Amino acid sequence: MTDPLLIPCPHCNGLNRIPAQRLGDAPKCGRCKAGVLLSTPFDLTQGDYASQIKGDLPLLVDVWADWCGPCKSFAPTFAQAAAQLSGKCRFAKLDSEANPQLSGQLAIRSIPSLILFKNGREVARQSGALPLQQLLGWLRGHGIA
Ligand SMILES: [Zn+2]
Repeated sequence: MTDPLLIPCPHCNGLNRIPAQRLGDAPKCGRCKAGVLLSTPFDLTQGDYASQIKGDLPLLVDVWADWCGPCKSFAPTFAQAAAQLSGKCRFAKLDSEANPQLSGQLAIRSIPSLILFKNGREVARQSGALPLQQLLGWLRGHGIA
């Protein structure tokens, strides 16, 4: 038996303990009963940030803004990666305009920017959009496949 994974709920920020062998069974949040693992990106906000970067499943954050053309072009690629890596990595979108304080805290200088977190710490960062295969390769390089 391996230790359960700690995974924050994308809906209520509750921290769940989920056995690794249950990851494929659409685990439900102990607090709000919604699904803990999504196959689509969820919206990250300033208020959720501290809770959502925690846990044993990596969190990939796509920092974007509504006025940014390359960000919009990249959105479908990010969504495809989220669908392919459900249960292995969590995918969130951070609207830099709506969350200026958090964007400042993360020292965002250009968008789109991708920031990978694990166990509450930033482990990698990529500036600019990537094609799907390169994005998957970049994640593989950080142990996510
Ligand atoms: Zn929940």
